[in-house]
Amino acid sequence: MPVVYEKEMLKTDDFFEHLGRKLPVELYFKGVSTPSLQGCFREDIVVVGHGFGQLDNVYLTLNISTAIEMRCCRCLAPVYTRVSLREMFKIRTEPTEDEIDLLPHILAAISTSLDPHPLCLPNCRGLCPVCGINLNQHPEHEPHLAEAEGRKLADFL
Ligand SMILES: [Zn+2]
Ligand SMILES: [Zn+2]
Repeated sequence: MPVVYEKEMLKTDDFFEHLGRKLPVELYFKGVSTPSLQGCFREDIVVVGHGFGQLDNVYLTLNISTAIEMRCCRCLAPVYTRVSLREMFKIRTEPTEDEIDLLPHILAAISTSLDPHPLCLPNCRGLCPVCGINLNQHPEHEPHLAEAEGRKLADFL
């Protein structure tokens, strides 16, 4: 069955009808159809917590969990990362709004939590700068840049 992206909105009526009262929040975003700058979501984004309304603001304390696949910054291999965050948000609402799109806030929190330089292994050897071979799969491969340059230079001398 194809997954259809249903935009999850947080209804604000309850918060403003019961100002100051802590109310449960549960939201669910389809991972496959949620764009991310750093990679692809491999699980849905589950958001569970509570919040309350005060003046024009909604204050939320949310647990965010999902999994994302990024690329190793050295060798481009997939890096699967579990995300489990507890975040607090203060969202200002307009009087005409009866629902809030939390997804941009949630994506921003996830982005900030991710390693900007993900590695497939702590000691990933990356790709050979000359021929592009994966040095993790070919540990015997000697980086030949300096050697090649040296030989070229020697030929001229
Ligand atoms: Zn790597
Ligand atoms: Zn090479």
